[in-house]
Amino acid sequence: MEIVVASGKGGTGKTFLASNLAILINERLDGVVAADADVEAPDLVLAMGGERRLLRSREIWESMKASIDYKLCNRCLRCVDVCMFDAIRLVDGEPRIIEEFCEGCGACAHVCPANAISFRRTRTGRIYSVETAAGVKTTTGDLEIGGRNSGDLVYLVREEAKEIARGDHVKNIVIDSAPGIGCPVISSLSGADLLIIVVEPTPQSLNGAKRLLKIAESFKMKVTYVVNKFDLNEEFLKAIDSELGLECIGKIPYDSEVPSSYSMMRPIAIHGMDTKAGKALKEVFENLESWVT
Ligand code: SF4
Ligand code: SF4
Repeated sequence: MEIVVASGKGGTGKTFLASNLAILINERLDGVVAADADVEAPDLVLAMGGERRLLRSREIWESMKASIDYKLCNRCLRCVDVCMFDAIRLVDGEPRIIEEFCEGCGACAHVCPANAISFRRTRTGRIYSVETAAGVKTTTGDLEIGGRNSGDLVYLVREEAKEIARGDHVKNIVIDSAPGIGCPVISSLSGADLLIIVVEPTPQSLNGAKRLLKIAESFKMKVTYVVNKFDLNEEFLKAIDSELGLECIGKIPYDSEVPSSYSMMRPIAIHGMDTKAGKALKEVFENLESWVT
């Protein structure tokens, strides 16, 4: 089962939950593979303790960038009009491609009457798999600086995680999604089985959670949620409950042990199960068991 941990807004504790659940599932449910799908800011391995043994690594060259042959170009400017990504600008009467913005979609070449546009392959980033100190095999991606194909890279990270899971005969994969509702998040959710939305008791976080839920509904996947730092605004819990209309699998209180476990790279699931956050995590894990078995 592919379990995606996501939040409609950044900074809600998504990686905290994904890393600790991965460790608990690995220990108590016959193994797990974790995947860091936040390829613009990957930190799942750090959240699981930082120490790692490299298993495999490869560069990904899947991005395409358009370029114009000015000897062929007749300055009709159809390419400028068709580019949805604002990657072709008009400079001194000529179309100029801004490579950083080019998504390689091919629309400009399709409309070009002079066959003046060609493509070259560029580096998308790197994906690599490690075994963390907690024994969780984890696949992660690293998008090229300024890279724009994060959805593709997320897809490849998930494929790599599935390959490792098949090889190890492991059933469960935990995916730490990027925050928000953009392309990498959609790439994380597509075809996955279960979404755990992490929400904090604030209107902004609930709004993000609702947007995420809409996407999940279109994928017809199972959805549940966890409230993080629930005790910071307990009055708001009713609003979350009624607006999401989902089964909640746990509420985690604010615990100063969490930020210090992060900065010390000592995951709560290994070093702090007797803390307030650790006890709540245990409950989340126990409630999750019925969804994954
Ligand atoms: S569509 Fe082709 S011919 Fe027209 S301006 Fe663009 S590159 Fe030049
Ligand atoms: S390939 Fe797509 S994104 Fe790139 S310049 Fe052409 S139309 Fe724009």
